[in-house]
Amino acid sequence: MELSPWLERATAEIRDWASSHGPVAVHPSLGVDEPALREALDVLVARLRKSYPFFHPRYAGQMLKPPHPVAVVGYVAAMLINPNNHALDGGPATSALETEAVGRLAAMFGLENHLGHLTSSGTIANLEALFVARECHPGAAVALSTEAHYTHARMCHLLGLPTRAVAADAHGRMDPAALAEVLATGDVGTVVATAGTTGRGAVDPVHEILALARGHGARVHVDAAYGGFFTLLAQDDPDHGPALVDPRPWRALAGCDSLVVDPHKHGLQPYGCGAVLFGDPAVARFYRHDSPYTYFSSSAPHLGEISLECSRSGAAAAALWLTQELLPLDRGGLGAVLAAGRRAATNWARMIQQSPHLELFQPPDLDIVTYFPRSPTPWTGTAALSAASTDVLDRGMKAEDPVYLSTLRVEAGAFAARHPAIPVDGSEVTVLRSVLMKPEAEPYLDHLHQRVEHLVRQHHQDRVKP
Ligand SMILES: *Cc1c(COP(=O)(O)O)cnc(C)c1O
Repeated sequence: MELSPWLERATAEIRDWASSHGPVAVHPSLGVDEPALREALDVLVARLRKSYPFFHPRYAGQMLKPPHPVAVVGYVAAMLINPNNHALDGGPATSALETEAVGRLAAMFGLENHLGHLTSSGTIANLEALFVARECHPGAAVALSTEAHYTHARMCHLLGLPTRAVAADAHGRMDPAALAEVLATGDVGTVVATAGTTGRGAVDPVHEILALARGHGARVHVDAAYGGFFTLLAQDDPDHGPALVDPRPWRALAGCDSLVVDPHKHGLQPYGCGAVLFGDPAVARFYRHDSPYTYFSSSAPHLGEISLECSRSGAAAAALWLTQELLPLDRGGLGAVLAAGRRAATNWARMIQQSPHLELFQPPDLDIVTYFPRSPTPWTGTAALSAASTDVLDRGMKAEDPVYLSTLRVEAGAFAARHPAIPVDGSEVTVLRSVLMKPEAEPYLDHLHQRVEHLVRQHHQDRVKP
């Protein structure tokens, strides 16, 4: 879809609504000189040109891509009003949109009951889940996989919660046997599982973790900030084919105590859109507080009464709601977007396995591919391999036909667990990592693969030169 006509339509409609309230003259203090604006805008755009092309499939690096145009239209329409979803006084219309949009997220995960709301980010959403976890089990520890997002340890520190590290297996998934040992100490109140780790996209065995945790009376929080929407691909579908991810961890989500998903990662939204969901609506009691400034318009619950943040963008809720209307949370809607990236990841993994220039670090669970350069003569050690990964990353960005990858530092033991034949000489190993989160990655795959193979060949050629 072409963005401009819809943006024009949205702005015209909101202008029409505004004018129904009667004319308001723009105050002279807010007036701007149009030539000065044109000049400043030129400077801004010139500076924005220094961005990486997140929209293009040649950008196969981090979890970054522009929002869907529908989200932009929804966001701009509401932003012109600038509602604040802290309270019904601030966002009567967008609070209702948020409640609906969050209800659809809860339904996607199969939650029968829920309490939930949007947040500014996955970090804040996880903070809220950990805050509730602390109130449920005061003084008890939080068990975290070594592959959990780094912000969990930070947020536990902030909340004064002790943590227990749980080892991951060779695939980067939480190891249930290691969890059983940690749980046996009896001091764990909450287990944090990750459905799609940020590094490798590994999906923890939530079904096994849930059973173990329940055996010890511990809560289970699932951080699905990045991976959550892949639950759309976890079922065989008569119209869209078989499940594209292992269904077992996803099915278990409905039985967990809380979960976090980031619509600003895989939900086509601009930044400022995370979400936290609780299975037991009664946890609302932990948020209880009063505000002398707000909450005058109704006795109905305000979103600010069940969230830690105060001001929050109502436009984010409008954008998410509109996107869900057009790309619903099913296999044919948003699922089709994720399916293309998932197919691209599995296909690229297969191509890498057959490549004389690249080696697969591990098969992808979702849409993150991890790989590293092969060497014409066996690698002397992981240090040379790491240097080659970094060099391929740099060369890719500087090339005439650039490709943008990312790197992942893997702890040496974790690397050796997967690739024991390569001698380890260093505490960490750098491999290459690509998040194929745009559906456009699928038709671009042959070119991307050729480009990366070429960069590896160039690295080795330049290395042997005197
Ligand atoms: C991105 C991510 C986070 C942090 O979310 P933000 O929205 O960046 O604050 C937390 N956990 C996982 C697994 C993530 O991928």
